[in-house]
Amino acid sequence: MSNPDFLPSLVGSLSQGAAGNPTVAMVEAAFAHHGLHWRYINMEVAPKDLDAAVRGARAMGFRGFNCSLPHKVTVISLLDGLGQSAAAMGAVNCVVRRGDQLIGENTDGKGFLRSLQSLEDPREKAVVLFGAGGAARAIAVELALAGTRKITVVNRSEERGAELACLLRETLQIDASHVVWKGDYTVSADTDIVINGTSIGLYAPEARLALNTDSLRPGVVVADVIFNPVRTRLLKDAAARGCRPLDGLGMLVNQGIIGVQYWTGIEPDAAVMRTALETAMGL
Ligand code: NDP
Repeated sequence: MSNPDFLPSLVGSLSQGAAGNPTVAMVEAAFAHHGLHWRYINMEVAPKDLDAAVRGARAMGFRGFNCSLPHKVTVISLLDGLGQSAAAMGAVNCVVRRGDQLIGENTDGKGFLRSLQSLEDPREKAVVLFGAGGAARAIAVELALAGTRKITVVNRSEERGAELACLLRETLQIDASHVVWKGDYTVSADTDIVINGTSIGLYAPEARLALNTDSLRPGVVVADVIFNPVRTRLLKDAAARGCRPLDGLGMLVNQGIIGVQYWTGIEPDAAVMRTALETAMGL
């Protein structure tokens, strides 16, 4: 897989305001561990320069790149095609060169799914998902494609929540509904998996999700997209109720693993990548 020439194969991250991106350390640790002569480079790209940056990556033979906000939607018009879930959710965070084409994928939801599958198979399960932003949308689409039976989207803004539930019903033919989030939400007794897909709790260990924790049945999987802190208040409360907690670091590591797989074709060592990420994040 490695490039025998002097120049390494290049992948990168097109982002804005992401200096010190810990993903760089995680991906480069995988390249080093597997003896790949590859580099992963973080590049600051302003929205007005995205077109030029993608043409540059194409011209310089990049094997792919990640892109983060605010580029996840605008990048689509600059690509040659989309993977199934990226097309369904209308957002790309990982671009892969296949032949001479640049194809947009979305690894956020796939990373979550893979992390979840270490605890629970979501097929035929009932899910309550808090949030309807980019992360929640990616997770919901991937869960629908994986055969989840029912998704209840609980979101503060009615418009975003209703739009996601509609996408799930109409594009992915899944039983989906939206509940406007007001006060503490009570999870119904038939729920198997509860997910915080909002930004509540990021860098805020005491932040509380408006959720009636007494309604969490022991054994239910309670997952958080928040990766810093790793043990959020939600996960601690859920563990205290006898639920099975799943942290957001697993999602982050797994989206990195899937990116490396897409670009290089190898199955990278997950432990190496998680350790590098934790070190880079000072955890
Ligand atoms: P968005 O801005 O697209 O969406 C934010 C969501 O959080 C919306 O649903 C918003 O509701 C909701 N929200 C924010 N604040 C509140 C509040 N005070 N009360 C109720 N709802 C609130 O963000 P993303 O979806 O891109 O990211 C969400 C989080 O996921 C971030 O913290 C990010 O770090 C994390 N993330 C983690 C990843 C991982 O690998 N672990 C990968 C990607 C993201 P509303 O629609 O009403 O505004």
